[in-house]
Amino acid sequence: MGTTSIIRRYRFCAAHRLHTEHLSAEENRTVFGKCNNPNGHGHNYVVLVTIACADGAGGSRGVSLDELDRIVMDRIIARFDHHDLNLDPEFVSKTTTGENLVLLIWDLLVTQLPAGQLQKVGVIETRDNYFEYTGSASVGAHS
Ligand SMILES: [Zn+2]
Repeated sequence: MGTTSIIRRYRFCAAHRLHTEHLSAEENRTVFGKCNNPNGHGHNYVVLVTIACADGAGGSRGVSLDELDRIVMDRIIARFDHHDLNLDPEFVSKTTTGENLVLLIWDLLVTQLPAGQLQKVGVIETRDNYFEYTGSASVGAHS
């Protein structure tokens, strides 16, 4: 028996700069390319949140789309929209790569949803860069 899921799309605009003190200026430019620009730059991020449908055949109670919208607005959009990601407390010791961002968004959402309902988080950073995370093997471990 399969699971029906829905993917909801959200957007936010944020600035960042990819840079690490562990590398030289030249190495930073090589690794991060244009995203290492000292003046920073912005992206129009798209966040794709996949959840199992609330009224699935399994009968488990899940959040509705209205509830999901509220959670994402409170936890993700309000936190990142028109902010500098490099100033976010979670990025004090991490670079603001798409990989780290998608992991953070997953962590911020999975604790707000019934166990197992969050299936995937995707982040589109640029036309050609898409990142996604589907959680660990032990789905719902965060309850
Ligand atoms: Zn960038």
